[in-house]
Amino acid sequence: MASVFIGLGSNLSDPVKQLNTALSSLEKLPKTSVVQTSSFYGSTPLGPADQPDFVNAVCLLDTAFSPLELLAELKKIEADQGRIKKRHWGERLIDLDILLFDELTLTSSVLTIPHQGIASRDFVLIPLLEIAPDLMIPNKGSVQSLISVLQTSYLYPLSEASQ
Ligand code: ADP
Ligand code: MG
Repeated sequence: MASVFIGLGSNLSDPVKQLNTALSSLEKLPKTSVVQTSSFYGSTPLGPADQPDFVNAVCLLDTAFSPLELLAELKKIEADQGRIKKRHWGERLIDLDILLFDELTLTSSVLTIPHQGIASRDFVLIPLLEIAPDLMIPNKGSVQSLISVLQTSYLYPLSEASQ
């Protein structure tokens, strides 16, 4: 079994509901269990600003899927949930990213692990810190040290989000 951190994000059609739907789909995956889930956070969009804020969370899976098999399963969940991708870094119903897969590093045209943005995005690092305070990112250092040098902040407690 591999320990895998997944990043979840949504900014359309009741994002909290979208994250909960995706989490229950992850729980139903064969060969996989959801071990832990972070709180949900609000975040201002990284890309185009004329779109709703995101709700972000991370979860930890135990899985017997290979990285590419898991990516295919995540894409299936995104598609089943009716994901529409309108533009790069734009609005989406649900985005599921493989953040870390054990200590694996992998770069290919379809899959990069650790996820490319992981070291610079507070909406990934802060939920990771919540569920795995001692986590190390291969070739990048600890989540704690990455947070301490962050230049930008997108995240806010979800209670401040306009629903
Ligand atoms: P993004 O998440 O970057 O906003 P998408 O979700 O549309 O954009 O992903 C685009 C492509 O990124 C996917 O089709 C997938 O093949 C690729 N990809 C590369 N690395 C990863 C990863 N670690 N997790 C998920 N998708 C990835
Ligand atoms: Mg994605």
